[in-house]
Order: sequence, then C-alpha cells, then structure tokens
Amino acid sequence: MSRVLELPGISSRDLSLYLSEINEKPFRGKQILDWLYNKCEFNADKMLNLPRGLRDKLIADNMTLSSSVAEAEAGSGGTEKLLITLKDQQMIEMVLIPSPERMTFCLSTQVGCPVRCRFCASGQHGLIRNLSAGEILEEFYHGVQKHGALPDNIVFMGIGEGLLNWKNLQRSLEVLSDASPEGFNMSPRRITVSTSGYVPGMEAFAAWARPFNLAISLHAVDDEVRSRLIPDHVRYPVDEILKACEKCSEATGRMVTFEYTLVDGINDDPAMGRVLGKIARKLHAKVNLIACNPVDDQFRRPPEKRLRQFQSAVEEFATTVTMRIEKGSSAASACGQLRLRHIVK
Ligand code: SF4
Repeated sequence: MSRVLELPGISSRDLSLYLSEINEKPFRGKQILDWLYNKCEFNADKMLNLPRGLRDKLIADNMTLSSSVAEAEAGSGGTEKLLITLKDQQMIEMVLIPSPERMTFCLSTQVGCPVRCRFCASGQHGLIRNLSAGEILEEFYHGVQKHGALPDNIVFMGIGEGLLNWKNLQRSLEVLSDASPEGFNMSPRRITVSTSGYVPGMEAFAAWARPFNLAISLHAVDDEVRSRLIPDHVRYPVDEILKACEKCSEATGRMVTFEYTLVDGINDDPAMGRVLGKIARKLHAKVNLIACNPVDDQFRRPPEKRLRQFQSAVEEFATTVTMRIEKGSSAASACGQLRLRHIVK
C-alpha cells in the first residue's frame, strides 16, 4: 500500500478505496464503520462479523488499534488517569473525570509539549512529537472501554498545545462531532479545546467557525508576569491573545474561558485578579482559577486565604468564576506527572 492510513478517523471514501485495493466487497466498509463509530471498537481482531482473512489483513496493514493502556491510576475525587503506550513506545495520558452529573474525558494532543510552561510537568522535556488524529481518537477509545459508555464532555487539556497540532486535532474534532455514520455524534458544545494562547492557531480555530468551546491559559494579565511562567518561544503578547479571543467567540458563538493557574508570589496579587475580572467582563468570558499543583519548590501553590482573596477580586467584575483546587500532590496527580514518572524511572 502506498498511502499511510489509520483505521480510527478513516473516512468512508478512504475505507472504500482501501477495501477495493485488497479485493474486498464494498459492504465490508459499512460493517467496519459500524464497529468504529457505533460500537466504538477499534481493535480489528474483535470485529467478529468480518471474515478471519479480512481481520488478519487489517492487522497486517496496521489498520487496527495501535496503542494500549500501560497503567491506570486512581486520583482524587474519583478521577482515573490512563497511561497509554503508543506504537513507538512513547507514552501519553488521558484522564476520566467523573462528577455526579457527568463524565468528562481529558485528552492529550502531543507527546510532550513545546510550550514548556515553567510550572508544568508535561512540558519539562519539550515536544517529542505530534499525535496523529487516530492516536487522539484511540485515547477516546480507551476512555470509553474503561467507562463503558461515551463521555458527556471532552476537554483537550491533557499534554500538549493542541493548536500547534491543528490538522490532526481538527480531524479528531470532526470525527467526534460528526452526526453521520462516520462519527460519534457528540455535540461540539460539549467539547473544549485548550490553548496556551497560540495566536495563529486561535485564528485558524476562529476561521473554522464551528461551535466548539475554547479555553485560553492566560495565567497572567501582563506580558512581564506571563514571561515568568511561559518561556518566549511560543508566547504571544496578551493584547494579541485577547484580540484573537474576541474573534473566536464571535466566530463560534461560544463564550471563551480563561484558565489562570495561581502560583504563589508570582501572579496571585488580588490587584491582578481585578484586571482579570475586567478583561473577562469585557469579553463575556468565564474564568477558571486553578491552584498550582507544584512540580518543584520554585512554583508553589498560594495559601488558601490568598486563593480566596484572588477569587473575590475577580468576582468583583466577572460573573462566572470557578476555582479548582486539585487535592493532592498525591503521587502523579498533577498534569503530566504520571508520564514523567515513567520517563525518569
Ligand atoms: S501547561 Fe499545557 S501548554 Fe503549558 S507546558 Fe503544560 S501541557 Fe504545555
């Protein structure tokens, strides 16, 4: 075969071409799409209404599930992290986040992360490679296998800067939201893409104009403070990020969310909280405050009282403000730390 194809995310057209190349009947395509998107079964060996010969051929052509779950680890509040081994032995993770009303899957978009935010475990080794659309969909598959059903929500807030892997992320979004037999028919309103403020990617997201949600990791309201948290190479000025936010919310018809990780003594001054509140009010944005989950001694979580003061300052101006305090610096509970532990073992 000359083309490189992946089974998860394949279109019916590519599947038909592939099946005709291997002299299989066209109706097998419908059966395969039913396994993929209706039954959420990516493992060709388990597609039991296909003849053995075809299943073997799919496996020989790598048209099957290519990743496996290496470890599952329970976290606080019922969360569960799955550490996933990819075909080249690289590792990524996805997280299942239950609440009484809904199940949310948190998915990764890259192996490692090029942004290298200074407080984040995932970015410490930089970017290793992008995930393909099929690999992103396989994370979803492993989550569905674990949960036993499709999730209610998906957030792309795992490892990586998704907008720096836009083509593959976009393809996975298409498949997740496609209401035809070629997708999972999830509402775009239940899917959130997160970015560290990569402006060209935000412009591509706005140009696509589909009603997916966008969350921007702002972390600071001015460039000087932001430079202490996010290194230069992928950092855009706050002004440009805010202009791109406006374009995104106009194009998608969705409110954007500002993610703001609070780090002790760096960005936790209540005066900064008031500026953040004013920005959120002007852009009709939500604010999600996150208490830093420490990677080392340099970036510590502010004391509880300081967190609450900051939240109150934002709430003077913004209407929708939430605070996430992850319990636990328990082993491997912060973003990327499960994977990091395997790398340094
Ligand atoms: S916080 Fe997100 S963007 Fe920053 S290094 Fe970590 S994974 Fe990358």
